Amino acid sequence: MGRRPTIPRRSRSALVLGAGAIGLSCAYFLRRAGWDVRVVDRGRPGHGATWGTAGLLCPAHSQPVPGPGVVWKALRWMLREDSPFRIRWRADPELARWLFAFTRAATRARSEAGFGHLAALSGLSLRLFGELLERKRLDFFFERRGGWFVFLTDAGFHKAREEARWLGRRGFPVEALEGDAVREREPALNRTVRGGLFLGGDAHGFSLGFAESLARELERLGVTIETGLRARTLLFDGETVVGARLEDDGGAPVERTADETVIALGAWSPRLARTADIRLPIQPAKGYSATVRAFPGAPAIAVTVADRKVIITPFGDRVRFAGTLELAGFDPTLNRVRYRAVIEGARRVLRAEVPLDEETPWAGFRPLTPTSLPLIGRPSGRKGVLIAAGHGMLGFTQSLGTGKLIAEIATGAPPSVDPAPFRP
Ligand SMILES: Cc1cc2nc3c(=O)[nH]c(=O)nc-3n(C[C@H](O)[C@H](O)[C@H](O)COP(=O)(O)OP(=O)(O)OC[C@H]3O[C@@H](n4cnc5c(N)ncnc54)[C@H](O)[C@@H]3O)c2cc1C
Repeated sequence: MGRRPTIPRRSRSALVLGAGAIGLSCAYFLRRAGWDVRVVDRGRPGHGATWGTAGLLCPAHSQPVPGPGVVWKALRWMLREDSPFRIRWRADPELARWLFAFTRAATRARSEAGFGHLAALSGLSLRLFGELLERKRLDFFFERRGGWFVFLTDAGFHKAREEARWLGRRGFPVEALEGDAVREREPALNRTVRGGLFLGGDAHGFSLGFAESLARELERLGVTIETGLRARTLLFDGETVVGARLEDDGGAPVERTADETVIALGAWSPRLARTADIRLPIQPAKGYSATVRAFPGAPAIAVTVADRKVIITPFGDRVRFAGTLELAGFDPTLNRVRYRAVIEGARRVLRAEVPLDEETPWAGFRPLTPTSLPLIGRPSGRKGVLIAAGHGMLGFTQSLGTGKLIAEIATGAPPSVDPAPFRP
């Protein structure tokens, strides 16, 4: 008997909706697995929440937002216009369901379990950042020299010492230092700092630079990136999702089909998922950042002012201040009081004057789930569609890890981290 002719197997195709840190990372690992990949976005790569992050890549900051005592703290904060957390109440059953799930997740046991899952995904991601930078696949501002978490009250620092011991037992390199010792190592900080934790494994990087560099690498690998296309609904063949119906900038309908469609639309993912009856518990959590030119006396590495939930990050030629979390739907307005609170929170700990003559203000929407765990994988009972959304405060940190996990789920390869906790 003659040998059977080998039939060349068509490589599988993926349509990735969303060119933020998450969508681009999914595209990268699917392409590396040999898939034909197309990415579409209504705007330019990285111009969603990925644009203005604080740039922290921080496995040690993996505490879910809901935790013991958080609900009471949030209620107290809501009485103040300039507080780090705020909800604008509205009659919205999705928000009510989300808040109910949030309060249920705010227990010590769930918070500690959540920490483990988030830290595993962040750790995987950070290893991948290291690998891709070392192999010159990516080129953007990135430094892994640790990060500071500083406290303005003795009580805050006292609690942080306990947290340091907790993190130390879980293998994170962490030092707890009194105010003077912190200032000796980071002279940019003034005497309001009572103490701080130095998290030796943290890194910081410029997230827009990451997205732009990854988009260049994708194009080099033969991935098509289409901008100016807005996804409207998913397309079906029977029960199977086979792509998406989109609209170009002039409102003309366009269809794109693929074997797998990945929804990576950040805070906007629930709208599209709903067209396939998939409910994603994600709320847009608005945050602000202000970017100024680099100035003498700026910190050398990222500093999180823990009591104010404000982060100061140097990115070479610029410095960014970021913070606040506001559940107010997709309201894009920049609340001046809250925005100023971010800048004031940063100025409060710095010795140097901050140049505010040319600052770039920004507001963006984190895609936040009630448990803070992202949704990664295939919704149960669905074919042809994968979700990669809901990364909240950690989407830049967890981008490459999420991309790798999505590719492993799509191809059936053994997963690098347990995907079960993230199943949509
Ligand atoms: C103030 C602030 C500071 C932050 N700091 C950090 C940090 O230090 N470290 C960290 O890890 N994370 C941080 N984050 C969180 C991080 O920004 C997000 O988790 C992450 O950017 C989410 O990435 P994404 O790709 O899911 O979403 P996005 O970056 O928002 O991307 C979604 C994309 O989908 C596109 N899109 C939406 N709807 C449609 C549609 N219908 N059709 C076509 N395209 C569409 C958008 O244009 C966008 O490009 C911060 C967030 C904020 C707001």
